[in-house]
Amino acid sequence: MKLDTRAMRHLAAEDWRVLTAVEQGSRNHEIVPTPLIEKLARLRGGASGVHKSISALAKVGLIARVKEAKYDGYRLTYGGLDYLALHTHASRKAVYSVGNRIGVGKESDIMVVADHSGKQCVLKIHRLGRISFRTVKSNRDYLKNRNAQSWMYLSRLAAMKEYAFMNALHEEGFPVPVPIAQSRHTIVMSLIDAFPLRQISEVPDPASLYADLISLLLRLASHGLIHGDYNEFNILVKEIKTKAEDGTESVKLEPVIIDFPQMVSMEHVNAEMYFDRDVNCIKRFFTRRFHFTPTQPGPFFKDAKKTVGKGGIKRLDATVEASGFTKKMLKDLEAAIKDKEGDKEGQEGANDDEDDDEYDEDEDDEDSEEDDGDDEADGQPLLSDGLLSEGLLQDEPS
Ligand code: ADP
Ligand code: MG
Repeated sequence: MKLDTRAMRHLAAEDWRVLTAVEQGSRNHEIVPTPLIEKLARLRGGASGVHKSISALAKVGLIARVKEAKYDGYRLTYGGLDYLALHTHASRKAVYSVGNRIGVGKESDIMVVADHSGKQCVLKIHRLGRISFRTVKSNRDYLKNRNAQSWMYLSRLAAMKEYAFMNALHEEGFPVPVPIAQSRHTIVMSLIDAFPLRQISEVPDPASLYADLISLLLRLASHGLIHGDYNEFNILVKEIKTKAEDGTESVKLEPVIIDFPQMVSMEHVNAEMYFDRDVNCIKRFFTRRFHFTPTQPGPFFKDAKKTVGKGGIKRLDATVEASGFTKKMLKDLEAAIKDKEGDKEGQEGANDDEDDDEYDEDEDDEDSEEDDGDDEADGQPLLSDGLLSEGLLQDEPS
């Protein structure tokens, strides 16, 4: 699933209105009937204007005609949802232009974007459900009983959860990206100028980096949280160069943690398993990569548990619920993430471009004009100024 923003500038105000109407209609309809689109879009030009926009949107793959339907209808594609989210970010001045893709996970796309001042930021687009839909039977069964727009729903939950935690962690002074904005299944955050630990072959002092990472993990625990995917892909390492008065240079490594949709509370029924898994993941990596083995055993869950909320430390594990998540939403997201873990063998290649296309939704391809391989930054604004001032933007569907 590639994000190609080129068609964005060519969409007219009416097209955006119709796209928004399809999104609104999808809240209650798996396939949004054309008359409903007409009703929701309320275009001055009436039905013929809507039909023109529908063709324009379908042509660039933002909505897709559903053929087997009993009635004539359309559904929003991932591309359509991407455009709506970008449109919101652009109108709120969080994003001005979209540049290179810097990461492709199985469940996300990571793009560099720029705001109006030219400052580079990161756009993370959650894409839950894009593999699981087709490959895992249990998933299909699970999804059959779910809201038809599960991929949209789950991806939005992942973004909401990640954004809520990023905010809470940032406020507590944790080294995480600065959260900037969230819309639908996407978040905008600061760009960390650093490599993932995975790409670092040597460090001057593995023991000290290891100690920093373990102490971060324990600090999270004291706030009631377990990262849940604390691995070499999700830890970025900044190099801070300092020069002493005598002119000698030294480099200090500073870890930054990312990727929070799977975070769990220290109160979770499987908390100990998640905690140990995070600890062991770091240990295993340090042994393999840096031939470093800590002299002390642990840290252990039972000790960490005692520190939760101690001495007035703010508990952050309720953060997500406080931000409007219902228990059902948490359960849905957790189930989806568990399924994703079930087919994680491809993790090693997760950040490579090569296997990306396997995960495309087939149906989306038919109308889109694919041109291969270029994720070029064109530096062009996403929207023409006229569109931004028309106030046609809607808030998030709730
Ligand atoms: P996923 O959920 O797909 O694993 P991540 O949030 O872990 O997504 O991001 C995937 C990759 O993108 C990371 O390993 C990292 O290389 C890069 N990345 C993500 N966020 C940032 C950021 N804020 N700054 C720099 N690089 C980032
Ligand atoms: Mg990750």
